Amino acid sequence: MFGLKADWSLEVFDRYFTLGDYAGGEARWCPGCGDFAVLNTVHRVLHDAQLPPERTVAVSGIGCSSRLPHYMGTYGFHGLHGRALPIASGIKSRRPDLDVWVATGDGDCFSIGAGHWIHAIRYNVDMVVLVFDNAIYGLTKKQTSPTSPTGLSTNTHPKGAPLPAMNPLTITLGITNVSFVAQCVDWNPPHMYETIKKAHKHRGTSFVRIIQRCPVFSPDVCKPLQEDSSRMLLLTHENGIPADDSVRRVFKEQREHDPGDWAAAMSIARDTSKIPIGLLYHDPDAPVYDDLSSRGLEATGAEKIAAVNKALDAFAI
Ligand code: SF4
Repeated sequence: MFGLKADWSLEVFDRYFTLGDYAGGEARWCPGCGDFAVLNTVHRVLHDAQLPPERTVAVSGIGCSSRLPHYMGTYGFHGLHGRALPIASGIKSRRPDLDVWVATGDGDCFSIGAGHWIHAIRYNVDMVVLVFDNAIYGLTKKQTSPTSPTGLSTNTHPKGAPLPAMNPLTITLGITNVSFVAQCVDWNPPHMYETIKKAHKHRGTSFVRIIQRCPVFSPDVCKPLQEDSSRMLLLTHENGIPADDSVRRVFKEQREHDPGDWAAAMSIARDTSKIPIGLLYHDPDAPVYDDLSSRGLEATGAEKIAAVNKALDAFAI
């Protein structure tokens, strides 16, 4: 009838969210800042997954990237410097039904928040952690960050950053119970979209390092990579980040890498002669702390008091 095929079906949504439903206030980053591309990509991933905005939380610490929750039409928590991860873990432990997203930066996560970074990866709470890494403290105007390359002139080291940059990939891969480590660049939205989408689908802590342009304070960090993509290595695999022809055309240096192979992931991450993008490591079976922390959440007040009293009885003499 009416020329429709017999297997034709119509998916009916109770509610349909537009891209605009995920947008918050007007984003105020510098012109050309890579943060805009990340924000737009996060909006698209949320939209395509049709996540209810009221069941989604964006959590951040302090820094340029940490302004992200203000630009989301979801719940948000703009926290303290370096403390996004414990706040996000706490939210998820009490409200496992929420979708938790973390926006943090290289200064926020790898310096003042480094202790939380290590333990968040080990606890493997189900959340997406997006690290906007521009190799500089941008918000406070150009101090050396843990990932500033040697020789980068900053306000704290005008003659050049003296130490080799930290390698966030090898460190994260080295943490017990790591379950998802990926890397992408903000100037290739199709690959970044697929990376964040895959991170969101993973149950556990998805660590995504986004190499992010800061044209104001560290323009020379990303420019050479943009101008010469042969300095980058696209990781491909059927279990990795999907890369269509447009992505493969840009990143001609490619390597087939099974994200289940931890040793190979570590070897790729250690080799700083090429910047890898794609999924380095994925263990979908790593224990997730949510399974423990969510126990007893449905208990009534009386049941909780009875459980506490029972535990205290163990100390009665
Ligand atoms: Fe972006 Fe850099 Fe400006 Fe911060 S200082 S908003 S990172 S361009």
